[in-house]
Amino acid sequence: MTTKRMVSLICPVYNEAKCIEAFYEALTAEIERLPEYQFEVICIDDGSDDASLDLLLALAEADSRFKVIELSRNFGKEAALTAGIDVSLGELVIPFDSDLQDPPSLIGRLIQAWEENDVDVVLAKRSNRQVDTLTKRASAAAFYDTYNLLAHIKIPKNVGDCRLMTRDVVEVLKSLPENQRFMKGLFAWVGFKACTIEYIRQVRASGVTKFAGWKLWNFALEGITSFSTLPLRFWTYIGTASALLTVIYAIFIIGRTLIFGIDVPGYASLFVAFLFFGSVQLIGIGILGEYVGRTYIESKRRPTYVIRKTHAWAPGVDNERSNNLHKSTLRAFKAMERS
Ligand code: UDP
Ligand code: MG
Repeated sequence: MTTKRMVSLICPVYNEAKCIEAFYEALTAEIERLPEYQFEVICIDDGSDDASLDLLLALAEADSRFKVIELSRNFGKEAALTAGIDVSLGELVIPFDSDLQDPPSLIGRLIQAWEENDVDVVLAKRSNRQVDTLTKRASAAAFYDTYNLLAHIKIPKNVGDCRLMTRDVVEVLKSLPENQRFMKGLFAWVGFKACTIEYIRQVRASGVTKFAGWKLWNFALEGITSFSTLPLRFWTYIGTASALLTVIYAIFIIGRTLIFGIDVPGYASLFVAFLFFGSVQLIGIGILGEYVGRTYIESKRRPTYVIRKTHAWAPGVDNERSNNLHKSTLRAFKAMERS
């Protein structure tokens, strides 16, 4: 008997109670269309405070393909994805949002693209962001442009977390030691051979986005400061340029004084220069602070997430292998905690 290849779907869930039923229906319809693969759907409850967890547990009870990781609180999407990726067993791994913004038919298309091309990663690019608000589109475009200007390792534009990765890629991803994980950057950092398919992003099945305003801004800062030190170096250039200008200006003033004598007026220009350089210094210190803060947090070596409980690492027919491996994963985690 040949065992089917396993695909792990990693689905972070934070207060998605309204979406879960539709998510289950649509997802199972799609994975049943792909009988040559077996699926494990790892749902990570990221500290939801609505009925999401109960609904997920009911799913896992009824359907052995569904497994639930319950985090001890809300750790954020990046941590939830990390948790799911860490415990996944599939030969192929696909992060998949639980709000149905990425249509489940994408799963079959990603797998097909992987079968047809000699690649390790299949990216899903949003060919059309019409469903996003104008501000979201504009801010996303500004983010990708700024990020790619500053970071060495570019991230592809309009490619979200939804993508197919092989086990090799996932193992490299798991081995990266940082605890603050900007997944899009890490995905790009690991490299490997990739191809891209396009899709149209849908509106949410229900509920509201968890990323808006301030949270999105902080996410962008996290991304940029995690993958580029150019903003730090930038201040060296600004400082050098302004020091040079100051020397030139000083020489000019000395020359003028020697020729024309002492010149008293100049209050306005002094004040402007004083304010300008004061602000430049504050911005520089702020940027330094971003990095020092991040180093500080990272240096504590706190784990990316804490699992309160795993549910239904199920006794299903196909899951014997996953059960064993999962126990070993847990043992590995415990050993890490002790060391
Ligand atoms: N999510 C999460 N933890 C969070 C925020 C979001 O697990 O702290 C999940 C959320 O349930 C969804 C996915 O991450 O499945 C993407 O979030 P959302 O749809 O709010 O983001 P958007 O698609 O608007 O960028
Ligand atoms: Mg969404």
